[in-house]
Amino acid sequence: MSKPHDTPQQPEAGGQDSETIDFGFRTVGRAEKSGLVRDVFDSVASRYDVMNDLMSGGVHRLWKAAMIDWIAPQPGQTLVDLAGGTGDISLRFLRAGGGDAVVTDINESMLAAGRQRREFGKYSDRIRWCVGNAEALPFTEASADIVTIAFGLRNVTDRDAAIAEAHRVLKPGGRFLCLEFSQVTSAMLARAYDAWSFNVLPRLGQLVAGDADSYRYLVESIRTFPPPEVLADMFAGAGFAQVRVRRMSAGIACIHSGWKLD
Ligand code: SAM
Repeated sequence: MSKPHDTPQQPEAGGQDSETIDFGFRTVGRAEKSGLVRDVFDSVASRYDVMNDLMSGGVHRLWKAAMIDWIAPQPGQTLVDLAGGTGDISLRFLRAGGGDAVVTDINESMLAAGRQRREFGKYSDRIRWCVGNAEALPFTEASADIVTIAFGLRNVTDRDAAIAEAHRVLKPGGRFLCLEFSQVTSAMLARAYDAWSFNVLPRLGQLVAGDADSYRYLVESIRTFPPPEVLADMFAGAGFAQVRVRRMSAGIACIHSGWKLD
């Protein structure tokens, strides 16, 4: 019998081959993953923002604020936010003085939930919402000053393709930042974090969003995401320079930043 705080068996982080890919702890066909991911976010879209606060005790706000601080938005700058969901990153970018923002997401339901947010009213002439896959962006080359992806890359099937697309749409001198869950650096904290993630979060998901499985997937997908040094290599491999990593909250979340020089 398993103890209440046991962590389910997890595969190696970042395990992908040409035919298959991780979907949480399951291995699925590559063609299958985006449909499964779409189902997850269709299911949670209307409760997504409230669940983010409940799951993280509001700490996701601090991580997002840290990414915006690192960007230091300027008037006239254009942001393309990949996997932008309900628009949190774009809203913060605009509030901090950035120029224009495009929220791009594969899920119309997430964008629809974002469009309903009253906070965007003030910025309606500087925000666009666009259905699009991060792996094949509907934007021209060298058209954005900043590209971001927050808690999105681990859901993407071909992560190298998404990073390459970020590079393609950036202007020379532009910057790509990825905020993502990562690997906890303290063994003691890791035990408490696992207990919270595997035992509490799916129950919370069931209670608030009526869906435990989607939140189980979210927890599992964090464990199978590549570690920070591997992601940094993926940035460099796509042509990004001056790649830097900032670990936050003992490694629970990480920001990667890279510049497109020319
Ligand atoms: N960035 C938002 C935030 O930080 O609140 C939303 C993050 S949410 C955890 C992940 C988002 O990634 C979902 O809205 C989902 O629809 C989107 N997504 C998953 N795969 C995608 C892809 N291939 N291209 C674009 N968006 C994708």
